[in-house]
Amino acid sequence: MVQGGVSARPGEKSMGFLDVGDEKFKVPIAIIHGVSAGKTLGLIGGTHGTEFASIEAVTRIIGALEPAEMSGTVLAIPVLNRPQFEARQQYTSPVDGLNLNGVFPGDPKGTLTKRIAHVAFEEVASRCDALVDCHGGDIDEDIRGFVVAAEGQDAAVNAEALVLASCFPCGLTHVFPAGGGASLSAQSIYGIPTIMPEAGTPCPVRKDAIDFHYEGIMNVLHHMGIVPGKPKYWNHSVSRRRLRVLSTGDGTWHPSVPLDDEVKAGDGIGIVKDLFGKTIQVAVAPEEGIVSMARCFYSVKKGETLVVVSAFD
Ligand SMILES: [Zn+2]
Repeated sequence: MVQGGVSARPGEKSMGFLDVGDEKFKVPIAIIHGVSAGKTLGLIGGTHGTEFASIEAVTRIIGALEPAEMSGTVLAIPVLNRPQFEARQQYTSPVDGLNLNGVFPGDPKGTLTKRIAHVAFEEVASRCDALVDCHGGDIDEDIRGFVVAAEGQDAAVNAEALVLASCFPCGLTHVFPAGGGASLSAQSIYGIPTIMPEAGTPCPVRKDAIDFHYEGIMNVLHHMGIVPGKPKYWNHSVSRRRLRVLSTGDGTWHPSVPLDDEVKAGDGIGIVKDLFGKTIQVAVAPEEGIVSMARCFYSVKKGETLVVVSAFD
């Protein structure tokens, strides 16, 4: 199997780089080619280059996989968005200001972020039977663990994406459209089930977040028959609505509800204070749901996200 000049024969594990037209930001890729034939999993970490637990988990998977025990292939990119990784800039690239997870399938003639997206889809997503694009909380966010599953036109592929999501050790799957420039677009473009597991915060890179990704990916590999072993599946509640609670002023954030807590409409979830310590906002849950993402920064500006409540119909 050859990807952008990197090749691995059956029974081999190879590492190399994919060209994106900028030597500084070439994309690392590992090809782990099992001795027996089987399915191919595409695995990406660091589409948002500051969501570090995803990068650490994919790196550990690359190290752990033994081609001699595998049936099929894993195409793994440990960190896709190196400009963002190196600049430690939230959401967008310092090179062209674009959010990589908004420009898939990319453009080989576009700016750097679009070229990176193009290479990831051309060299990995287009050659896979399923795609797992690992994410987490960005600079000011924290996530305990949930999965986003793509939903496109094909009911059978949608159902398989939900099964892949249930391979991750948590209780929540969000369903997002298979489009909008997200990596989830792979599901509608290539007809492959596509998910985005989400866990962690950039600092510190917690063990529980790395383990969430690692365990889930290994379960997906068991489920697909690429790595021998019995897969484990979790029961997930499915949410189609993420409700952002925004700060109404500038100041400091004082959360009162931990991640993954259940809240009812009107429950207090934290307070925003001004720089003299006076309460300027009592933030409340807009509906019943689960606190699936929380602000982890003390400072806050008007309009920034305090928490995300995942709501159920
Ligand atoms: Zn992300």
